[in-house]
Amino acid sequence: MALKLSSPVTDIHRIGPAKAKALSILGITHVRDFLYTFPRRYDDFSVITPIAQLVPGQKMTVRGRVKTVKSVWGFQGRRRVLRIFVEIEDATGVLQVTWYNLRFLVGQLQQGRELYVAGMVEEHTGRPPKKCAMRSPVIEFVQTEAEQTHTARITPVYPETHGVSSRFLRYQVKNLLPLLQVLPEYLPANIRQRNQLVGIQEAISAAHFPASGAELTTAQRRLRFDELFFLQMAALVRRQQRFSQTALPVPITLPLLKECIAALPFALTAAQHHALTEVMADLALNQPMNRLLQGDVGSGKSAVALIATNAVLRSGFTVLYLAPTEILARQQADSFTTILGQQQVALLLGATKQSAKDRIKQRLRSPEALCVVGTHALLQEDVKVQGCALAIIDEQHRFGVAQRHALQNLSGGRPLPHLLSMTATPIPRTLSLTVYGDLDVSILDELPPGRQPVQTEIVMPDNREPAILHILQELHAGRQAYVIAPLVEQSDRLEIKSAKETAAEMHQLFPDIAIGLLHGQMQSSEKESVTRNFAAGALQLLVSTSIVEVGINVPNATIMIIEGAERFGLSQLHQFRGRIGRGTIPSYCYLFPTTADSARSERLQILTSTTDGFVVAEKDLALRGPGEVYGLAQSGFGNLQVASLLDYPLIKLARQEAARLLKKDPTLARYPIIRKKVEQKNLQAHFE
Ligand code: ADP
Ligand code: MG
Repeated sequence: MALKLSSPVTDIHRIGPAKAKALSILGITHVRDFLYTFPRRYDDFSVITPIAQLVPGQKMTVRGRVKTVKSVWGFQGRRRVLRIFVEIEDATGVLQVTWYNLRFLVGQLQQGRELYVAGMVEEHTGRPPKKCAMRSPVIEFVQTEAEQTHTARITPVYPETHGVSSRFLRYQVKNLLPLLQVLPEYLPANIRQRNQLVGIQEAISAAHFPASGAELTTAQRRLRFDELFFLQMAALVRRQQRFSQTALPVPITLPLLKECIAALPFALTAAQHHALTEVMADLALNQPMNRLLQGDVGSGKSAVALIATNAVLRSGFTVLYLAPTEILARQQADSFTTILGQQQVALLLGATKQSAKDRIKQRLRSPEALCVVGTHALLQEDVKVQGCALAIIDEQHRFGVAQRHALQNLSGGRPLPHLLSMTATPIPRTLSLTVYGDLDVSILDELPPGRQPVQTEIVMPDNREPAILHILQELHAGRQAYVIAPLVEQSDRLEIKSAKETAAEMHQLFPDIAIGLLHGQMQSSEKESVTRNFAAGALQLLVSTSIVEVGINVPNATIMIIEGAERFGLSQLHQFRGRIGRGTIPSYCYLFPTTADSARSERLQILTSTTDGFVVAEKDLALRGPGEVYGLAQSGFGNLQVASLLDYPLIKLARQEAARLLKKDPTLARYPIIRKKVEQKNLQAHFE
């Protein structure tokens, strides 16, 4: 039976069900997968070193002949071990090699037979003359140069699993490479020429068995480009599909916009102006906006949303605003009401009385222009909205794709409302093109005037007194404080215990201060009342687990202690810190690491050096990589095989080329293979 790229692995000679099962762990189920499972790294065994010139501590390759073979059965603990001692000689000397348990090898090691061994060189501890040694080196008998697979070349090292060694994979890949001849080139010639990309067959082949370092580099560049190209193409196609849908155009006149801006008690920052202009331009179109407003906590995103909401309402359309928690929804509804008035704002929460919910739903079905602020509850009711032109999602990363779709579809899907998402988790520009590849991004990169950057200090465990005194001073001056309790991973119970202990400690330190406690297992009504009491000033100090991140706006809170600071991620620490410094009063953040050692954590140092969320995000990315920071490891972006999400120049190039091709052929009709790959990708993306 002739093997094809699409054949299952069990069609390959001597691969049975057991091997197939082991292979499936590596994602190899079909012949094609062998060729697309690229090496993790390479061992350069291409240079042959004369035995006399071997250097202990280095990986080297020797070509020689079998001089003597001795095999000895012995014990290692209770396990029987076969030790095979082999002397290998070349013109310059003798190398002592030991293999273990490779019983079949003994019969193959006839005296005088020529072989390569490659591996770590050690000093031989036996009797003089002094020799070098290798333990369990890679072995391969001498064949023609083209036939050498494991040694005497740049040798691929694959991801391995129990029962699947790199040696096995090399052997299979080498045998299967000729099948590549049927693989069609799918990248148009002009893209390859413009970007100096080698052909796909050549690239795959050389990525496994490169003839030289230069060949490997060229091959990898092509493969990386492809991976990024399809990622970008998929995003651009999604974007294009969005533009083929219709939305309610809301042309907003300049005088109206000016009125809406003037309704706020402050002047906008330049960044807010800019973002608002972009939003207005999108709203005027009959294609749905999908814009992400990125900005640090307190940069004034909600203010932008408020002006847009006002303008849309006054144009006669409805606005839906989705918030991740009841606290945030309430806070937002309050600030909307201040500017827009009672009449036009409604709040829909899980806890809202059914009769009130029904009234809101009825109003949404009517032609009335209304702003409804809600939580997930909004999506669970059978809401039908007439004339909804704008849907807003706050803290968008807390919602899934499905929820975003559901929100947009509350109005029946046609026309679609424009979508404005907001996030206070800044993503570095390097990543944004990939992660937000299909949407438009506006950035608020400046804070409103008068903000005092939060002063951040690391406090040594044996020197907390000055910080505590400072807090006491601030509390007595009428300010409020947050204390974040240490993170206890994987145990809510312990985390609550630690929060309670922290609260008790604070009671001792500040006996005459009103202290509140907030943790994840409280009823949401309890949480709300604590939060509200803190916001109203009835509580002066709030001890909380990490749930406070969800964000409340209490400008009078000017001090924060973060206990066990080294346990939190950089971005999370930054989010906490965003709870203070929200007014014009100077604010202070004290990081309390658990030990003097952990005080030296680089993360904490970074936090003291900047208050810019983008800088923090960049540094976090550099420290931990995109998988860790943004959870990309599990997402469609994380399973890149060869490319890096941080290779900005290549990402830009790939996006440019994808855009160019799509412009030339919007349906990709002339590029069926590209189209198919992109469709598969987007199908996956939809289910994530
Ligand atoms: P975000 O949603 O980005 O966290 P908000 O819109 O809630 O930020 O703004 C944070 C605080 O700053 C609010 O109290 C808001 O009234 C105020 N604010 C927003 N924009 C400005 C501005 N341009 N000038 C002064 N204060 C502002
Ligand atoms: Mg906000």
